[in-house]
Formats: sequence, structure tokens, C-alpha cells
Amino acid sequence: MLGLMQNWPLTCNKILDHAATYHGNREVVSRLVEGPITRISYKDLRGRALQVAKRLEHDGIVFGDRCATLAWNTARHMEVWYGLLGIGAIYHTVNPRLFPDQIAWILNHAEDRFLFVDLTFLPIVEKIRDQLTTIEKIIVLTDAEHLPEAGLSVIAYEEWLAETDSDFAWKAFDENTAAGICYTSGTTGNPKGVVYSHRSNVLHAMAALQVDMLGLSSRDRVLPVVPLFHANGWSLAFSAPMAGAGLVMPGARMDGEAIWELLDTEKVTFTAAVPTVWLMLLDYLERTGKALPYLERVVIGGSACPRAMTEKFETNYDVRVIHAWGMTEMSPLGSVCTLKPEYADLEGEARLDIQEKQGHPPFTIEMKVTDDDGVERPWDGKTFGRLKVRGPAVTSSYFKGEGGEVLDEDGFFDTGDVAHIDAHGYMQITDRAKDVIKSGGEWISTIDLENIAVGHPEVAEAAAIGVAHPKWDERPLLVIVPREGTNPTREDLLAFMQGKIAKWWMPDDVVIVSEIPHTATGKIKKTALRESFSNYQLPTI
Ligand code: ADP
Repeated sequence: MLGLMQNWPLTCNKILDHAATYHGNREVVSRLVEGPITRISYKDLRGRALQVAKRLEHDGIVFGDRCATLAWNTARHMEVWYGLLGIGAIYHTVNPRLFPDQIAWILNHAEDRFLFVDLTFLPIVEKIRDQLTTIEKIIVLTDAEHLPEAGLSVIAYEEWLAETDSDFAWKAFDENTAAGICYTSGTTGNPKGVVYSHRSNVLHAMAALQVDMLGLSSRDRVLPVVPLFHANGWSLAFSAPMAGAGLVMPGARMDGEAIWELLDTEKVTFTAAVPTVWLMLLDYLERTGKALPYLERVVIGGSACPRAMTEKFETNYDVRVIHAWGMTEMSPLGSVCTLKPEYADLEGEARLDIQEKQGHPPFTIEMKVTDDDGVERPWDGKTFGRLKVRGPAVTSSYFKGEGGEVLDEDGFFDTGDVAHIDAHGYMQITDRAKDVIKSGGEWISTIDLENIAVGHPEVAEAAAIGVAHPKWDERPLLVIVPREGTNPTREDLLAFMQGKIAKWWMPDDVVIVSEIPHTATGKIKKTALRESFSNYQLPTI
């Protein structure tokens, strides 16, 4: 016997319809790449998205076609997303911080037909234009007045759009239709395309909105510093309009001053970004003595949130930190560290201990940790293993079958992270599987070593890597970048770490460098670091 409820396909256009109908006056504020701040209501943004859809169809873009964006977070970028979604075409957000050759490779691999690009990124496009085999039109997200003399044939978005109107209806199609593509940064080999569906985006946004997850409401004003091109924009272009929350889009400027200005003048209550952005903001606040009177919650994810950062936000600025974990393959939300009743009354260091964890999953995510043979490990908050997940917004394979089969026999996806889970279901990442240091058959967590090292007042950045050792296989080497104007020594660091970790976890050596290499998403590039220290002679050999 089947249920007798209506079959209402979970398509993304319905999110914008809902926002426009029930939260029509709420604004999307943008700092445009050209400089000024603009404001548009959800009602008008929907009108512009319909106009994009109509114009795309007029230009011959059809169901299943891919179009790329190389753009910052602005209302224009969002209109393009929803315009594409509304005709069953697919938004492909490209990370401009990748190498130009990688960008060209991705655009060709996705067979994108149109490219929507911000002024800032035109030089990249000029560089790779000759390599692009499928791009038919390059549309610059600006008006004719700001369109520069380019060596390329380009079109100004506003003029392109003005040639049509918003008298259009969204197309109807199955909820399992592809909605968007986002390539993983591919620290090894070529990037792999993760393909979201309308259904997965809608379910994921609903999961993200749970109160113990991001918990947005129509009273929130949301500043997504995390770019739309980073892991599906952490769902905020879907979850904010779904909740009727206003949006404040930061455009190209992510420095501490620019972000503070928006947080303050736009009375932002909720914001989200990687730790590097928050380091810049906290630094700005400390230098200027400014405060955060309106901000209530800050989501920190993409890499582990340092303990000192949580403490500063909560103690000095009265902003609640929401530590979150996820990945492109999970749309991206995997877990959030909000406090369940079991931990809600903790204070001080004990509370910070919990907040260092990546947290518990929303409904829609199932998690387990296993050993290398797939045997499940206990949930005791210390035994770590490979972290595996499944759910309706977790990838089942990569675009065009790249990378082959990715699920185990129970349908779980191996995240490539190493973690433990405690009795209350709180997960804590201890490493990437490929970074973990294997010493004498046991695993040493590089993240733990790094977290402790950055707690030293003279350390700006720290990376732990395994270096070959004849007796133990690998032993930890700690690489640090000192804070400006300081001179920490190897002995300072080792003394500082003493007693904070098991004896056999102590680094065999500490190297001070002026810079550590980073990936396109701002994470430490461990592969490059391991390569440059591959012949390093540990003093313990
Ligand atoms: P990119 O490398 O392009 O940023 P992802 O966003 O998909 O791609 O990266 C996902 C990975 O980032 C996770 O598998 C995990 O290793 C790391 N990560 C994300 N959030 C956290 C967090 N809160 N703590 C530690 N690691 C995290």
C-alpha cells in the first residue's frame, strides 16, 4: 500500500519561490566587485532569476547543460544559480584560486557552455581562453559601463539580461535531476566533480536548518563569507532563503576591516567561514578595539577551529562559536558542535574540550569509524579510525565515474578523515588518513600536535608531518612559522608540548620556517611539505 500524499518534487526553485512569497521584503545585500553596496529583496531577486532563466533558454541553454561561474558571493551570482536551476541546467561553481591550467581542465571536463565571470577573474580567463574547448559565451557580471576593454569577446551581464523580461515559469522536472557541480580541490591527481541533485540540495538545506545544526530563522541576517564556490557554499544560498533569513554578500573583500564593516552596518547575526578569515577579523578587532554588538553566531569549519579562537569569540566578543565539519562530497554539512543536554552545563576548559570536537550529525547523516579492514571501532571518544558516512546528500560516485567505486558494501563513503566518536555521538577529527603519522604500528594525530603547537604565543602556524625512521617507520617532525617579531626555538616548543601529549607523540624535531605552502582552499599542503622534508635527517636516527 502506498501513502496518499502529493508528489511535490523537491526542486531548488521552490526555495526561492517560498522566500519571495513569504519573506518577499527580506533583502540580499551585496558588496559589488565594482565597489558599491546594493540591496535587492527576495521578491525582486526571484524576478531577476526568472529573467536569467528566460534569457538562457532564448540563448539555447537546455535541460542538462552545464554553465560555470567564476565569481564572488553577490546577489548576481545567486540569480545566475537560481536561473540555471529553474530550467534544469546545472550551476558549476569554479574555485578561482586553483591554478589556471586546472581551471581550464575543470571547465572542459564539465563541458560548460557559458561562463559567468566577475571582473576580478577576467585576467585568468584571458590566460586560458585558448584552452577552453566548450565555452561559447563569456558573460561578465557587471554592466556595460564597467566592462573593460578585454582581449576577449565578452558580454556585459546587465545588458544581456535587459534584453529579456521576467515573464517566465520555472520548468518542471524530476527532483533527482542534477542541480550543481563542485570539483574537489584534488591535492593529488585531477579534481573530481561532485554532482548535487535538486533533491539532495533541498534535503541538505532542511537538515542544515535544524536548530542543533545551523538553526537559521527569518530574524537572522546571514553573512556567508565562505564563497559559493567552496563546497556548495555550505548550503547558505539555499538554507537562508528557505528560512526567510536575509543575506549579506561580501563580494571580493574578505579582509578583517571589510568583514567587520558589513557585520556592523548590516547588523549581521550569523556568519560562516574558514578559520583563516576569522584570524584576520580577530586581528582587526584587537588592533582597533572594535566590538561585535550584533553578531550572535559564527560557524567555523573547513579545517579545525583552534581552541583559542573559540575562546576569543565567546569570551571577548560574546559570539557563540559553531564548529562544523563537512566536505564537498557531503553537500557539505557532516556534523556541527552544538551542545546537547549531556554537555550543555559545562564551563571553562571542559566546555572548550567539547567545542574542539567537530560535533554530531544532523538527521540525514549516518556515521561510523572503522579500522583498515572495515571493522567498526567503539564509540569511546578515543579509539580512532577511518570516518565513513552515508545519507541522501552524500555522493554515491564522481562525475563521469572518475575515481571508480567510492562506497563500501553497506553504502558508506570513506571521507578520508580519521576520527573518533564519543558515547554521545560527538565526532572528533584527528587527521586526514593520508597525513596520519604511523609510528611503530600506532597512529599519531597530526591535528592534535598542530593544535597544541599553535597554542604557543609565538607560533603563527604549525604543521606536523611524518618523516621516515628506520626503527619506527615514521616519526613526527613539527614545522612552524613564528609570529611576526618573535623568535621561538626548538627547545621552547618541545618544552611547551611536554606533558600535553603522550611521550611517544612528542615530535622528534622542530623546524622553524618563514612560510608553509597552502592549497587553493587555504589548507596546509602536506604533500608539498612532506616532499620538501623527505630527506630530513631526524636527530633521533
Ligand atoms: P577543500 O579541500 O576544497 O576545502 P572540502 O571542503 O571538501 O574541500 O574539504 C573537506 C575536508 O576538510 C574534510 O574532509 C576535512 O579533512 C577538512 N575539514 C573540514 N571541516 C573541518 C573541521 N571542522 N575540522 C577539521 N577538518 C575539517
